[in-house]
Amino acid sequence: MSAPKDQHFLVDPRTVERILSLLDVSDHTVLEIGPGTGILTRGLLNHGAEVIAVELDHHLCTTLALRFGPEIDKGQLLLIESDATCCDLPPFEYVVANLPYSISSKITFRLLDIGFTEAVLMYQKEFAERMVARPGTAACGRLSIMAQTYADVEACFDISPRAFNPMPMVRSTVVRLIPHEPRFFITDRKFYSDVVRVLFSHRRKTVRNGLKSFGGSLDHRQLERILGALSADILSSRPEELQLEDFAVIANAGTEQG
Ligand code: SAH
Repeated sequence: MSAPKDQHFLVDPRTVERILSLLDVSDHTVLEIGPGTGILTRGLLNHGAEVIAVELDHHLCTTLALRFGPEIDKGQLLLIESDATCCDLPPFEYVVANLPYSISSKITFRLLDIGFTEAVLMYQKEFAERMVARPGTAACGRLSIMAQTYADVEACFDISPRAFNPMPMVRSTVVRLIPHEPRFFITDRKFYSDVVRVLFSHRRKTVRNGLKSFGGSLDHRQLERILGALSADILSSRPEELQLEDFAVIANAGTEQG
């Protein structure tokens, strides 16, 4: 497998400590995605965590296996050479990672789907800003709604490019995620996700017009039912003006029997 391009290794020990001060990993099983050269891995082990580290790059895995031989032998570290977006994962409680930015979205939704207690993840700053943007604000988008439906998300602090080698072109932000069940009843989670995607792919359109361009997965009857069930207020809003609950109301209107 070819080496992924987005490799920016943390080289600032103070940043590692700042990340690890956000949660008490001692005696917990922590999944680390993309350990790279192992600076966070070492920090996690020093703080008493049991670590499952998934690294895609074969050369890095070889170096990690040498560097952490004793911890691997003692069962404190399980090193998995694989793609974290799709490989089998043993059970874990926490996730701590300086994520490869190209897989931020995919891995975040995979983790939310699998379930975990708490995660402290580093993202590109713009991605983190979209993730934490509040519903009803112009910055809010599909990522904000989907993340906040299934988790509390909080931007903790930014990290300067100087903390990495090689230096990335972008700033990074550390985000804390605490998963929860949706706060509003959702009849069909797949349909909810489709509704959020469609509405934000036409973000300048009102809900009424956005839904009309739904295409394949929404038949005429479903569309009529949704349009008939929703208030004029919701139908004339743009997606960025809606609250979290409104997306559930819209999706449920299309999936209720009758
Ligand atoms: N955590 C390290 C390295 C961060 S760079 C540090 O902070 O220094 C991102 C790392 O993720 C790289 O080591 C890269 O090889 C790895 N990576 C990229 N795509 C991956 C994937 N799909 N699954 C697992 N690891 C991946």
